[in-house]
Amino acid sequence: MKIGIPAEIKNNEKRVAITPGGAANLLRAGHEIIIETEAGAGSGFSDENYLEAGASIVKTAEEAWSCEMVMKVKEPLEEEFRFFREDLILFTYLHLAAELKLTKALRDSKVTALAYETLTLKDGSLPLLTPMSEVAGRMSVQIGAQFLEGSKGGKGVMLGGVPGVPPAAVTIVGGGIVGTNAAKMALGLGARVNILDISSKRLRELDDQFNGQVTTIMSNPHNLYEAVKTSDLLIGAVLIPGARAPKLVKESMVQDMNKGSVIVDVAIDQGGSIETIDRITTHDAPNYTKYGVVHYAVANIPGSVSRTSTLALTNNTAPYAQAIASLGLEEAINKHPELTSAINTMNGSIAHPAVAAAHDMTY
Ligand code: NAD
Repeated sequence: MKIGIPAEIKNNEKRVAITPGGAANLLRAGHEIIIETEAGAGSGFSDENYLEAGASIVKTAEEAWSCEMVMKVKEPLEEEFRFFREDLILFTYLHLAAELKLTKALRDSKVTALAYETLTLKDGSLPLLTPMSEVAGRMSVQIGAQFLEGSKGGKGVMLGGVPGVPPAAVTIVGGGIVGTNAAKMALGLGARVNILDISSKRLRELDDQFNGQVTTIMSNPHNLYEAVKTSDLLIGAVLIPGARAPKLVKESMVQDMNKGSVIVDVAIDQGGSIETIDRITTHDAPNYTKYGVVHYAVANIPGSVSRTSTLALTNNTAPYAQAIASLGLEEAINKHPELTSAINTMNGSIAHPAVAAAHDMTY
């Protein structure tokens, strides 16, 4: 199969969908890899690295998009919709619940679109979202610590405190992969950490995992308000797979936070979990201040640590790409039934129940 890898065009998105090593594996399996020039540059992979692996380099996005299967990192932007066509298999992050225009464009042009983030294993885990959630969770604390500095608009508080000065309070809403990785970093820096989740089972696991070093709290509006108003750093990390994130943190809760506190809403890629975050921000202009609280809502956090993220992502996506390319989608689904859950649009229909529900569309 011909597999195309266009360069990413989202603001400051420096990841690439395949490494030279991944390309070499696919080539060994008899496939052709077509890479848009400079697609890997932001992750430290040159055109020469891909050529040495046996891939072909093309000058335009059009040539990469003309392949039978296209692998990307981020969802296509509007200027890429013109490449959609009926016989295209698209394998990438899509986040369609927060992207009505893209959902319609993929459906109407009958693309077979597989989303990394909805591919679900039997145990409910999300193997293609997990590596980026690990990165984003760890980064959320680095980012929060930075914006808590006075020169960045924050209250001038250091997460770990120092002897004689108490540490900062970090509240994490959602104790899944993002939340757990954020907690690891925040604890490592010496902060006091609260984690809220609606799953008692998950809260028990977190209590065990962190040996009681984090405070686990059942997520409900009352508990959330109590934790939010005393937090220096609030991290949004909830997920209902495929669906829009619930707006759990209300405007009134943010109004009652101390000035100079910071919110990092990692769940913004699914629409965001904070009422005062009404727009996605970019790596170029990542934050704004509302009610004296710094808001950060970048939807592609891992893009800023592109080398780490590309390696972590492609370790997990490459085996599925190889299965689809070598066996065809139908056979690949027989071998890896979880691929069914990745299909978001197919044959002109919405193929994922949560995406359909998010847009009130038929499934
Ligand atoms: P996950 O499924 O591992 O964890 C989500 C957790 O949220 C679960 O433990 C679930 O029980 C909990 N939850 C659901 N409803 C809740 C509620 N009402 N209150 C409290 N907790 C609730 O998901 P994840 O991999 O940690 O991803 C979290 C979010 O981060 C997703 O939206 C994901 O798309 C996003 N993400 C964003 C970026 C970025 O760059 N912005 C990168 C990676 C992941």
